[in-house]
Amino acid sequence: MKIGVFGGTFNPIHNGHLALIDRMIGRLALDRVILMPAAVPPHKDSGCVLPAQDRIAMCRLAVQGDERVTVSELEIRRGGKSYTIDTLFALQRQYPNDDLILLVGSDMFYTLTEWHCAEQLLRMVPIAAIARETDEFSRLCAQRDRLNAMGARTEIVEAEPVVVSSTEIRQDPQCEALPAAVEQYIVQNGLYGRTRRIPVDLDELTGRLRAGLSRSRYTHTINVASTALRLAELHGGDGELAYLAGLLHDICKEMPRERMLNLLEGSAIIKDPVFLASERIWHGFAAAIYIQRELSVYNTQIIEAVRYHTTGRGEMSLLEEIVYLADLTSADRRYPGVEALRAKAERSIPDAMFEALQFILGDLAHSGRPVTGDTLNAYNRYALIQAEAPRQA
Ligand code: ATP
Repeated sequence: MKIGVFGGTFNPIHNGHLALIDRMIGRLALDRVILMPAAVPPHKDSGCVLPAQDRIAMCRLAVQGDERVTVSELEIRRGGKSYTIDTLFALQRQYPNDDLILLVGSDMFYTLTEWHCAEQLLRMVPIAAIARETDEFSRLCAQRDRLNAMGARTEIVEAEPVVVSSTEIRQDPQCEALPAAVEQYIVQNGLYGRTRRIPVDLDELTGRLRAGLSRSRYTHTINVASTALRLAELHGGDGELAYLAGLLHDICKEMPRERMLNLLEGSAIIKDPVFLASERIWHGFAAAIYIQRELSVYNTQIIEAVRYHTTGRGEMSLLEEIVYLADLTSADRRYPGVEALRAKAERSIPDAMFEALQFILGDLAHSGRPVTGDTLNAYNRYALIQAEAPRQA
């Protein structure tokens, strides 16, 4: 197989990157391209670089449905400065029978001789470059000849440039050279100084939930949304996000098992035996995928609050805590102790989380069911908070 390796900061990924991928695949007859977001790019000031998880999420959205392209977390997981030579060594070990080819835009092509271990890098794999500006073809060819004289195997892919950069997108909120899903991700999360917009029509969503859920599940859903809104108001959270996450949290709860498994296919969690044995928690993880695919909800805070609303996890955001507690204390909940937990949730989120997790762990242990790592981590976190800050008598 012929595999293109395309690294970058992707802060954010834009149409110029996608055009490069498409053209390189076409002209070089590549079987696939590995998109490789850098942890810390060696040549950039990391201060203005968005967290890796956001950049990865945007890369995934940009190439979703394109089977020729995969997004790799290799450099992100490795951490530290992301030197291309280290990445190529790792990929050569991973794909010993395939041909790797490094893909770069012209700005990077001109600086190759300054990269870490440049001499070795230049001889390691073939390198293909593409123009970013108009009228730079002859400059590119001159650089190709220079590098090839040094022992490199470089070639220029001739194509009309797509003149855009991540810098331009970060600096100009009007710049739209972005794949649609990436643009939605950016506005829904309010990134790069763009005003946050949640493109969900609440009436339409409520109608959809009413039509799709049983009566009791629909009532519960509306109650959770209202409770989440109230808790957000009491604790300085974001009411709009809390209400929406509440509305979405159980959207997959009544889905047939097979359909849920279909949604979960491909996510790492499905390999966890405890998760597989705990069907009652699937719907949160399935919903986190469903709301992106079917409703174009790309707000990360909402997605994570929906995902972890039954399990909790070690480091929960305020929104995650609010939805978790709203689910347990909504007006339709009737179990011994619910009123005390409801009152506690209004007073103190960490105290209420601790009590809720104690209750849930006790219940799981009592009925002999396994406990996911996320729930154990959540319990430990709030137990430690209790231990560190003992409540005043
Ligand atoms: P920034 O503006 O933050 O420097 P960038 O737009 O250059 O970002 P990077 O993520 O740094 O994007 O680039 C990753 C790779 O994509 C590099 O090889 C770069 O040359 C290439 N590239 C970026 N934009 C384009 C474009 N418009 N056309 C072709 N290649 C591009």
